[in-house]
Amino acid sequence: MTETDNQLLNRILFEGIKEMVMVIGVRDNEELYYEYINRAAMERTWLTAEAIGRPLREVESPEKFEFFRLNHLHVIHTKREFHYEDSYEMENGEMYYSSVRLVPMLNEEGQVTHIVIHAHDMTAMKKAERDLAKSQEKLHETEDQFRIIANHSRDLIVILDIYGKVEYISPSCTEALGFSEEEIMARPFPYFIHPEDRSGLVNAFTDSLRKQRHFKVKFRMRNKWNEWIWFEIYGSPVFNEQHRINRIVAIARDISVDKRSEEQLRYFAYHDMLSDLWNRRAFYEHLADALQREQYRREGLALLLLDIDRFKWINDQNGHDIGDQVIAEFSKRLKGAVRRMDTVARFGGDEFAVLLPSVGSREDAYAVAESIQRAIAKPWVFTDRCLLVTTSIGLAVAEGNMTDDELIKQADLALYEAKESGRNCCIG
Ligand code: GH3
Ligand code: MG
Repeated sequence: MTETDNQLLNRILFEGIKEMVMVIGVRDNEELYYEYINRAAMERTWLTAEAIGRPLREVESPEKFEFFRLNHLHVIHTKREFHYEDSYEMENGEMYYSSVRLVPMLNEEGQVTHIVIHAHDMTAMKKAERDLAKSQEKLHETEDQFRIIANHSRDLIVILDIYGKVEYISPSCTEALGFSEEEIMARPFPYFIHPEDRSGLVNAFTDSLRKQRHFKVKFRMRNKWNEWIWFEIYGSPVFNEQHRINRIVAIARDISVDKRSEEQLRYFAYHDMLSDLWNRRAFYEHLADALQREQYRREGLALLLLDIDRFKWINDQNGHDIGDQVIAEFSKRLKGAVRRMDTVARFGGDEFAVLLPSVGSREDAYAVAESIQRAIAKPWVFTDRCLLVTTSIGLAVAEGNMTDDELIKQADLALYEAKESGRNCCIG
């Protein structure tokens, strides 16, 4: 048996149209009943084939029926198309959104006998709209949060593209560097970086792009007054939706105060406060280096240990303050009497050490000791008094594979002898 045209048309309407199509019949008393429901409508609503021929009043819930009735009455009386958007929960619990069009079918007398309902599925579009709105809301929220952080941050926030071009700078950058935003944006970024720190920063940046990891590096930045300020920068790559890096966000903190105190701490760790000379710890490091060098250079290395003569008496006679001034002046004269390459240290109390590399011979070392003594022998004039200060010196010359302790011990013994033999002399 072949399909008649009618059957074919019915099948096309029923199966072939993927949008919901329903036909509502309108009885004379304006009673509405289901005349036709296609498969798409059956799949997306609670309706089954059993609803066909039955009044909407019986099939639908009272609320839904009332809603339908009003819409349909509107079409019946105006005889014009009516459009509305509908949403309901599907069997699987998901929401279904549709754009519904009610089209009146009129008979020859101009009365509405049928209403064709055509519902266009809007679920995917609604979802996309909702997602877009949500992500835009989120984006605005994130932008607002970012702006609050960036505007109030004392740290410098910089956004760079993957070629290192500056895309954004926070207001704190202009405050910290003294340049206006336009001045910063107009110059190539390396202009602001200390030449010695550029390669370190560039390496950290490219490394971060390659390994897709954050980086942390210290560098100096130029301010408007051409001063260099220390910063520590923390850079993080930012990924796009394809998981590719498209930016680097860098947060830089002014660490000049930390740097200064770090340098100060390092200075105090190796220097004596009163004399401004190297301290014992620094001296031992210099001595170890010098001995090592002497092992293969053999240019001569001598050590002088000095101790001010009768310093206790100077203190007792003149007070501790004058004693301190004697130590400071003694240090100055000592430094002035030797070469720049020599290491001069205060060992503590009134004890000093001088390391003489490349001295050549013991005689040369003696000559240095003598010139020190001459410098110390010059008059010591203070505002209200004149003092006589002398020093005893123990000399030792590094021989063979002497250790630092051995060399110091030898110089110490020589110093002891110098004291024993009447002071103000050099033995060794
Ligand atoms: P000698 O000739 O044997 O060296 O006699 P001296 O009196 O110098 O004896 P010694 O070197 O043992 O004494 C060092 C003194 O230096 C002891 C201490 O009171 C004093 N002294 C140590 N450190 C300081 C300091 O920082 N300032 C002052 N004013 N005095 C110090
Ligand atoms: Mg002394």
